[in-house]
Amino acid sequence: MGSDSRDSQVDQETLCLLQRYITQQMELGYKEVYFSSPFPPPKPEDSSRCRLEEFYERIKDCQRCPLAKSRKNLVFGEGNPQAEIIFVGEAPGGDEDRLGRPFVGRAGQLLTKMLGAIDLTREDIYIANILKCRPPGNRDPLPSEVALCRPYLDQQIEIIDPLVICALGRIAAQTLLDTRRSLGELRGFLHPFRSRRLLVTYHPAALLRNPHLKRPAWEDLKLLCTQLERG
Ligand code: SF4
Repeated sequence: MGSDSRDSQVDQETLCLLQRYITQQMELGYKEVYFSSPFPPPKPEDSSRCRLEEFYERIKDCQRCPLAKSRKNLVFGEGNPQAEIIFVGEAPGGDEDRLGRPFVGRAGQLLTKMLGAIDLTREDIYIANILKCRPPGNRDPLPSEVALCRPYLDQQIEIIDPLVICALGRIAAQTLLDTRRSLGELRGFLHPFRSRRLLVTYHPAALLRNPHLKRPAWEDLKLLCTQLERG
């Protein structure tokens, strides 16, 4: 049986059921009949997930800046589409470029451990970068690249609508807060960021290079927790 005849059979069945229902309602004395959609309204989580997927489809072949030529994969970001917190790094590294996922190298493994220390998993949060493509040799992002790519992150933040944003490292912090102040000056307190809060802490790669930074990074995470509890 072809799909057309199956569809018309379904339509006939639906019409019969509808007729029977209306007749029953009239027999019961009702003068008006109300119908509701057979589909439940979409959950907010489904809506954010769909919007992120649609947005990814729109930008996945982005050629706005020269990094498109050297990348293996665009690293969009991943995690909970309704996360209360978004962690933002500066740009994908070699492992991330190869796999198309953010924070998957040694620094990413440390970030996962840091999250575990405050009872969070990567499924609870969202992770993205200022740049979606890897700068060659892991050099710092150029201002021209940031200017072209930053709107993508802004759009992700708008869709996910988190309570807090955590900037990982100097470049993410300076870019998001539009300042030249040092990381030391920017960390230790919450910054207003549009209608949200923004916390600055060390990039996990910096913690791997200098373990003495782990203690202040832990203080930052505790501050983050207090904000999430308050939210
Ligand atoms: S870094 Fe951003 S702007 Fe440049 S090509 Fe990649 S996605 Fe496009």
